[in-house]
Amino acid sequence: MIDPWSSSILEYNEIMKNFGIKPFKEIIDKIKDPHWLMRRGIIFGHRDYERILTAMDEERDFAVVTGMMPSGRMHIGHKMVVDQLIWYDEQGAEIYIPIADMESYSARDIHFEESRELAIKEYISNYIALGLDLTKDNIHVYLQSENLVVEDLAYIFAKKVNFNELRAIYGFTGSTNMAHVYVPLIQVADILHPQLEEYGGPRPTLVPVGPDQDPHIRLTRDIASRFEKRYGFILPSSTYHRFMRGLTGGKMSSSKPASAIFLTDSLEEIEWKIRNAKTGGRETLEEQRRLGGVPEDCIVYEILLYHMLGSDKKLEKMYEDCRNGTLMCGECKNNVADYMRRFFEEFSKKRKRAEKIAESILDKVQS
Ligand code: SF4
Repeated sequence: MIDPWSSSILEYNEIMKNFGIKPFKEIIDKIKDPHWLMRRGIIFGHRDYERILTAMDEERDFAVVTGMMPSGRMHIGHKMVVDQLIWYDEQGAEIYIPIADMESYSARDIHFEESRELAIKEYISNYIALGLDLTKDNIHVYLQSENLVVEDLAYIFAKKVNFNELRAIYGFTGSTNMAHVYVPLIQVADILHPQLEEYGGPRPTLVPVGPDQDPHIRLTRDIASRFEKRYGFILPSSTYHRFMRGLTGGKMSSSKPASAIFLTDSLEEIEWKIRNAKTGGRETLEEQRRLGGVPEDCIVYEILLYHMLGSDKKLEKMYEDCRNGTLMCGECKNNVADYMRRFFEEFSKKRKRAEKIAESILDKVQS
């Protein structure tokens, strides 16, 4: 069982085998200009991505849904979702971004006013500063607690779901609060409501997630088929991305400041974190020159691989130089710290501008 509210580092092959997720590499050749997260195998699995491919190829309508749960500071690991959304926006998707304030309330005990504040100041501002234009008409951002269509739909879905089923998927017990038991149905409604007729549906819908969120996808697909006759739902597709490890080697987490680079960290903090990150370097310089480093074990390399370096060529060069012992960790960290400083100097300027726009995003008329 996977618990989406306390995910740990997951064994990706095991998950694919146990839950019927297909390897993304089997379809990547059919994508005209795949995103670098696809090319590098960071997006590693999918369910029914063929439907999205067809929609993109034939320039037909499709939707992408991905939520943000306002429960803490955004770190660099969250950038991956925004990068994917920017790409899907370029492919012509209608994008829905539910802010999961009901989930925050039921699973993290964060109250609605606090969620709203956090969503605007942290998440929406960062999404805009990272390059996703949330003011566009095809991008819809809303709070779950203010979307009555979603709430009504969740209630309709609840009629055909029972507690035993949710317990089997999520491991709920007799002491789980009822808001927490109910909230997966809100998420199902988040994913399926773009397929309602009044929203231009039914249409292929994609949910890009980490594998820890797969229980929601499985539940959504089950419910979509139960209500297929009534609403004509098309089973939603999904993609699955790997998680970058934390800077110190374990899991990257908002609750462990040393494990992550936060988007609002100061330049000094970022540099300190890079210099203290776990590497794949050898014990001595002599050994590293002779044997080369191990980029696969290196978090500094992972930062560039997952989040920062769009150019495959530059990344390959760094990989080769590390492998053949011509690049030492000290010099490498200096380069990466420089690169990050330039990125974050620019980013913090964009963030200041974004904060002004962020306030108005939740007032945008949703359709
Ligand atoms: Fe990591 Fe760079 Fe050291 Fe290689 S040289 S192990 S990529 S820090």
